[in-house]
Amino acid sequence: MAQANSSIQPVIIAGAGPAGSVLALALAKKNIPVIMLEKHHSLPIDLRASTFHPPSLEMLDELGVAQEMIDMGLIVDRYQYRDRKTNEVAEFDMSLISDETKFPFRLQLEQYELTHIIGRHLQQYAHVEVLFEHEVVDFEQDDDGVTAIVNTPTGEVTVHGSFLLGCDGASSNVRKAAKINYGGFTYDEKFLVASTSFPFEEVFDNLSYVNYVSDPDEWCVILRTEKIWRVLWPTDPQETDTDKYLTDEYIQQRLHHLYDKEGDFDIGHRTLYNVHQRVAETYYRGRVVLVGDACHINNPLGGMGMNGGLHDAFNLASKLIDIIENNSDHLQHFAHYDRQRKDLAVEFVQNHTIANKKMMESTDPDEQAKRQKMFMETAADPDKAKAFIMERAMINCVRESLLVE
Ligand SMILES: Cc1cc2nc3c(=O)[nH]c(=O)nc-3n(C[C@H](O)[C@H](O)[C@H](O)COP(=O)(O)OP(=O)(O)OC[C@H]3O[C@@H](n4cnc5c(N)ncnc54)[C@H](O)[C@@H]3O)c2cc1C
Repeated sequence: MAQANSSIQPVIIAGAGPAGSVLALALAKKNIPVIMLEKHHSLPIDLRASTFHPPSLEMLDELGVAQEMIDMGLIVDRYQYRDRKTNEVAEFDMSLISDETKFPFRLQLEQYELTHIIGRHLQQYAHVEVLFEHEVVDFEQDDDGVTAIVNTPTGEVTVHGSFLLGCDGASSNVRKAAKINYGGFTYDEKFLVASTSFPFEEVFDNLSYVNYVSDPDEWCVILRTEKIWRVLWPTDPQETDTDKYLTDEYIQQRLHHLYDKEGDFDIGHRTLYNVHQRVAETYYRGRVVLVGDACHINNPLGGMGMNGGLHDAFNLASKLIDIIENNSDHLQHFAHYDRQRKDLAVEFVQNHTIANKKMMESTDPDEQAKRQKMFMETAADPDKAKAFIMERAMINCVRESLLVE
């Protein structure tokens, strides 16, 4: 069992989602004591992000968990933009980036599999404490450390440490307690996601496991994870009865619009969720640092939300290790983290995801034809296709962020 350096204070992590879990493991591996506080009674199992891009897999490989994930997940080495009106398919072959990364593919795997894998790894470190039913509600800080104020089933407790990492998701209490503004906007429409075990790959010609589908009536995204197919649709922003979107009747209609089979589809989970584009005004306040959805959120088109959070976590972990091991100046490191990750989140992820949504939702036939033509031409030219994949696989943005002084 790895031993911590008992002379150093623990780092407090609020939230055991992907960002918090990765930070906990990265610090634990360097013998830094960690207390991870999670408000739920166990690691949540919910269907949220399911795509891991190559840079995330490279980082997770350094932590020793990528192979386990690959063994459980689905390797997707091509993805498609399909036009249902013309039946044209633009296919991007990710082997074009095999000279750039050890992982020239998207790994489709539920995000909760990552947190569960890391949860098992963390058990081997005596210097890591994971406390469930511990919700951080506030904090106090001074020059020496941070005290988190935590709600538990038996009342309020305080937890003291060197730093507090707010990995507590989009509604982050840590961000609110730090009085950090979360500027941006929320789209009028919600997104609906439903899963089914129906084998779409058997009825659509040459279907890849990740597909962005344009359609004169409604666009959708069809994704396969290791277990199921998931379909994501936009909903009508004018509709006041949004409950109807979660009914069997409505989802059957949507699925039959996609493929008109006889009889009902088997429907698994369903979620209707608000879609936001927001970035925190700063990623730190003294000894308190925000990571992942706590400091940026975007629409899911392109699968950049969780991946961006993982990239934050790795970036911050290396800085915290330097701060703790070498007693280097934390404010300088956090300001650097803010420049590398916040400005990038605004410029790259926000712009890309907003553009992806705009492009998918246009129903103007000329626009749709122009868009599909662009995809077809790009996919057919290996240089252009490689450049396209490098952007969307988030390789360029991770490399560029590391160049920011
Ligand atoms: C329905 C849905 C679908 C999505 N689909 C995609 C997708 O396809 N692709 C993509 O890239 N992204 C997607 N996302 C976004 C993705 O899930 C998030 O970007 C990712 O989960 C962020 O990870 P995180 O660790 O920052 O936060 P979270 O995963 O939200 O984890 C936060 C953790 O903190 C805990 N917590 C919250 N408050 C407190 C507190 N005060 N104290 C202690 N613990 C606390 C929570 O219980 C949770 O375990 C989706 C999100 C939703 C809601």
